[in-house]
Parts: sequence; C-alpha cells; structure tokens
Amino acid sequence: MSKERIILMYHGIVNGQDPVPPGREVGADLYDVTESNFRDQLTMLREKNIKVKRIEEAGTVDVVITFDDGEANNCRTALPILKEFGYPAYFFVITRRVGRPGYMTMDELKTMVANGMVIGSHGMSHEILTNLKDTQIEEELAASRRYLERNLETEIRDFSIPRGFCNDKILRMAYAAGYKNVFISDRPRDLSDEQCHARVAVKQNWDLARFELAIKGEVPVKEAFMERTKNLTKLVLREGGYNWLRQVFIKIMK
Ligand SMILES: [Zn+2]
Repeated sequence: MSKERIILMYHGIVNGQDPVPPGREVGADLYDVTESNFRDQLTMLREKNIKVKRIEEAGTVDVVITFDDGEANNCRTALPILKEFGYPAYFFVITRRVGRPGYMTMDELKTMVANGMVIGSHGMSHEILTNLKDTQIEEELAASRRYLERNLETEIRDFSIPRGFCNDKILRMAYAAGYKNVFISDRPRDLSDEQCHARVAVKQNWDLARFELAIKGEVPVKEAFMERTKNLTKLVLREGGYNWLRQVFIKIMK
C-alpha cells in the first residue's frame, strides 16, 4: 500500500497549568497529550525531515496537524510550540463554547489567525450530526461558519465532524454550506472524494514509538482489530446505542 498523507488529530495539550474545560464529554481525557509529549512529537517530525503543511499544500509525504474542540490550552500551550517549530495547524472550534471556561475566547482565536493558524468549524453544539434533523444539521454547518467568518473576518473553509459520526448526506450538506474540506475521524467511504479527509487521533497513552508508527501510516495489529470491532459495534448499535455502550465502558475502565 502506498504511503498516504497523514493528518493528525489532537484535542487538549496539557501541562497541569492551563485549564481543560470543566464538564467535558466522558473519555475526553484519553486524548489529552502532555506538553512535553507534544514537543517530542514535533521534534520527531523535524528530525525525520517530515514537512507540516496546510491541507491544500500537503503532498503524500507530508503531515497535517489538526486540533478539535477549541480548548484554551490550544492557544496558551500548543500555539507557542507550533510557532517555535514554524508549523501551521488547524483548530476546529465549537462555536457556542467560544469564551466559555476552558475554551478559547474570540480574541484568542484572532491571535491564532494572526499567527498563521487556520480556524475551522466543529459545529455549534458538538451534537452528533447523524442524530439531527436536516434543518438542524444545516444550522450546525451554516450558522457556525457565518459566526466565525463574521467575527474573524476571514473565509472559513474547513469543517471537522463532531465526534466523528458522518455519512454521505452530511458530507454533501457540508460542501453545499460552503466548506472546501471536511475532516473525519476514520477512513472515508468514498476514496475518490478529495474534500473528505481521514485523520489519526493522537492519544494520551502513546509513547514516541507509537507516534512514529502513526506518522508512517501504520497501526499495531491489536489496535487494528479493536478498531474493526468498534466499527462493527457502531454499525450494529447505531450511534445512540454505541455512544451509550462506550460511556459505560469508559466508566468501568476508570
Ligand atoms: Zn470534538
């Protein structure tokens, strides 16, 4: 299999000082990457001479960095490190949470843009789109884009699917709402759709060896098996049932 462009998905970059939002979704901390691990990961990219680019400029050997949810630590902790390395990144914001405790303020989003970062939409409410009526999906897509464009005075071209539940209809609606790129959590079903981008979620428990596999586009056999099981469970239980089961499991595992 040929090497594909790798798109990394981060959430919080944590250092024990900058806030994480109170009352986050169950399991959100699984995606908290420590500041020192984040720095080590970017150092590995630089040492391997892997370029970090925006999606439009990224070739098959490059990496794209994205962040979901718009946590305050993205501006306070991740931005200074990204600037140090000269790497651009995408930050997908839940518009109703802008300025809430633990999330970036509009001024912080402006700071990100001024520093060459890309702001995209992650919906208004973080609701799972496949559970919503068409008019609500339309609202999540279009109103969040309008809000960001009005406040940031820049074109918003990029959307990241809240919690990864997506289908062909939602992709079509996102493009109709003006988005040029839609970022999802797993592999797109239609590989010919060049506007839909699969990502790899960077997890809290990854060591540098696991990160190295990710940037090579590899998945350990055990994780690949777990992923297939998860996708099958999603298919059988549909979103509501899967989410319920996931929350139960996360609570048991704690
Ligand atoms: Zn999210």
